[in-house]
Amino acid sequence: MLIPVYAIHPDDLEQQIISAGFKPYRFRQLVKWLYVKAINNISQMTDLPADFKTYLKENYDFSLPSIKQSLTAKDGSTKFVLELRDGELIECVLMPEGNKNTLCISSQVGCSFGCAFCATGKLGHVRNLQVDEILSQVILAAQFLQEKKLTNLVFMGMGEPLDNLDNVVSSIRILQSDYGLQFSPRRMTISTCGVVPKIYELAELGIKIKLAVSLNSAIDYKRQQLMPVTKVYNLVELKQAIMFFRKQSPWRITLEYIMIPGFNMDEEDARALTKFAGDISCKLNLISYNRVDGLPWRSPTIKEATAFQERLRALPIAVTIRKSRGTDISAACGQLAAQSMNK
Ligand code: SF4
Repeated sequence: MLIPVYAIHPDDLEQQIISAGFKPYRFRQLVKWLYVKAINNISQMTDLPADFKTYLKENYDFSLPSIKQSLTAKDGSTKFVLELRDGELIECVLMPEGNKNTLCISSQVGCSFGCAFCATGKLGHVRNLQVDEILSQVILAAQFLQEKKLTNLVFMGMGEPLDNLDNVVSSIRILQSDYGLQFSPRRMTISTCGVVPKIYELAELGIKIKLAVSLNSAIDYKRQQLMPVTKVYNLVELKQAIMFFRKQSPWRITLEYIMIPGFNMDEEDARALTKFAGDISCKLNLISYNRVDGLPWRSPTIKEATAFQERLRALPIAVTIRKSRGTDISAACGQLAAQSMNK
C-alpha cells in the first residue's frame, strides 16, 4: 500500500529516501516541490531523475483531497469543501486581510462535543482526520494562493483538535519543520472547547503553539447549556489548565467569547467573565454569534456588542470585538458543517 507522502515527517522521509539508495539532495529537491512550491504532481517535478520518480510513484501516495466546492464571500474569505478518500467531507476557510492570509483548518469529520451554537457539533463524531488530511488543507490553500504566502494557521475548523491530539501534533511538527513549511509557532493557534486533560498533555509535550479557549460563559450552569464539556470539566478546572499551559508558553492565551443576546451578555455574565479572566495572562476576543439554521439564537446588534464590551472595562486585559468572516457563505465561527451537503 502506498504511504501518503504528506503524512511523513521530513526527517523520516529523508531516512527512507537514503535507505532506498538515493542521495540526500534528492530528498531536499523533493521537499522543495512538496512544501515550498506546494506541487504534489510528480510529473511536474522537473529536476528529479526518472529512477527517483519511479521509486516515489511505487512507494508514496501524492494525492490531495478533491475540492468539491469553493465559495468566496463578500469579504474575500474563501471556503473550500474537500472530499476525502472515503467520500467524507470537511471544510476549511482561507481569510485574507492585508498581507495576512489565515487558514482555518479542520481536525475531525464532525465532532462529539455537541456545543449548542455549532453546526459541526450537530453532526456528531464521524472520524478523526489523518495527518495527511490535516496537511492537505494547508497545501491546497498554498496552491490556491499561488505567489502569495499563507501566513497564519488556526485549528478552529470542524472538530475538536485536542480530541485528535496525536495526528494534530504530528501535523504541527511537519508544518513547523525546517524541511516542511517552516511555519512560525507564533503564527499557529490551536483552539479547544476545554478538554482539560488534553490541555495539560499539549503543554507537557512542549509543542510550540498558541492556545485559544472557546469560553462563551464564565458561569458553570450557563456554559453547561452551551458546551456540554463543562459537565465533565468545570470552569475552575479549566482555569487551572489554562494557567498551567500559560506557564509553559511564551504567549498569552486567547479567550474566545461568542456573544448571544439574551443569554450571556448581561451584568452578571460580565462580572463572572471579569473574575474568570482578570488574573489570567490572556486577551479576550468577543465574537458575534452567527446564526445557524435550526438554532434559536440571533446575532447581537453592534450596539449590544459594544455595550457588553463596555461592561468589561474593569478587565486589565485587551478586549476586542472580532469581526466575523465569511458569514454569507456559512464559513464563520460555528457554521462549518460540510457533511450536511451529503446527508
Ligand atoms: S465548537 Fe468545536 S468542540 Fe464544540 S461542537 Fe463545534 S467543533 Fe466541536
